[in-house]
Amino acid sequence: MAGPKKEIDPTWTQTLIRGIRNGETAALAQAITLVESTRPQHLEMANTIVEENLKNAGKSIRIGITGVPGVGKSTFIEVFGKLLTSKGKKVAVLAVDPSSTVSRGSILGDKTRMQELVKDAHAFIRPSPTGNSLGGVAKKTRETMVLCEAAGYNVILVETVGVGQSETAVHGMVDFFLLLKLAGAGDELQGIKRGIVEMADAVVISKADGDNQKRAKMAQQEFKRALHLYPPKSNGWVPKVLTCSALNGEGMDQIWDMIGGYLDTAVASDHFHQKRKEQNKYWLLNHLDELIKDHFHHNNEVSKALQRFLETVGNGKISPFKAAQKLMQLYHKSLKI
Ligand code: GDP
Repeated sequence: MAGPKKEIDPTWTQTLIRGIRNGETAALAQAITLVESTRPQHLEMANTIVEENLKNAGKSIRIGITGVPGVGKSTFIEVFGKLLTSKGKKVAVLAVDPSSTVSRGSILGDKTRMQELVKDAHAFIRPSPTGNSLGGVAKKTRETMVLCEAAGYNVILVETVGVGQSETAVHGMVDFFLLLKLAGAGDELQGIKRGIVEMADAVVISKADGDNQKRAKMAQQEFKRALHLYPPKSNGWVPKVLTCSALNGEGMDQIWDMIGGYLDTAVASDHFHQKRKEQNKYWLLNHLDELIKDHFHHNNEVSKALQRFLETVGNGKISPFKAAQKLMQLYHKSLKI
């Protein structure tokens, strides 16, 4: 379906919008490719498609899943995703990690991951968009989420590798944030990044099977105690600590029930909608930052001057502050022309 001719066909945008509304995965996948494209002619089409689909978006549960590489995220998502599709849900799996900062193969692009879910007609898996800036990738993931929702996916799982800053970005785009952790040999607390634990609505100790089962239970108790040391969440939710084994399919139902419990409470207290409203504001500011940065860096004159200043700042001939000030003056001047 995709091809250079179609890319400049003005009716193509409408075809994709209709296709998404009808839940066609080919149209969805192509629209996402447009969203991820850096070509200016695609940007306008992508913006129209996202804008048109916004009114059909939002009717989903957005769940962030984080954890260090090897903790079992893809195995978990595969089994959890299958459970959800068996319950009649339509599940989309997205990833937020700029490819430059994550070792290749550990992200969703690897075809060997989630082999069962890939084959599931009620699941849609999209690898992480490529890009260097987290802000840009996060924006693309948010827009992809909108398109998936408009296509009828009612559970969106957003994965991140839990080693960078992307958790904050994911936390800012989901309703529920789940941290997967391994039971360590007595060092459970040392491995935790405080910021990430603070964001988590639930901590799930993975691989609770075989010899590891006992350790997982111990880690669960320790985490429960540790979580009391964190400040309470503004919505009154006390983060839960569960265990699971994706290998044996154990603990998955409890995790889904827990998320359901959270949603019931959050919707009843209106915190759910308040949070989404706040996230929309955050998206606006975030997107604005990206647009301003783009505009600045795409200015030819400014960009050339920046290269020169990078040299002179490197040589110590001018201070970084003075250079930045001069660049801004140049930028402002160019805006007036
Ligand atoms: P990711 O890097 O976080 O996505 O982790 P993977 O899902 O790729 O899993 C890393 C390794 O842990 C793989 O060898 C999996 O087979 C194994 N693994 C994943 N889940 C479980 C589990 O529930 N139990 C056990 N014993 N091993 C698991």
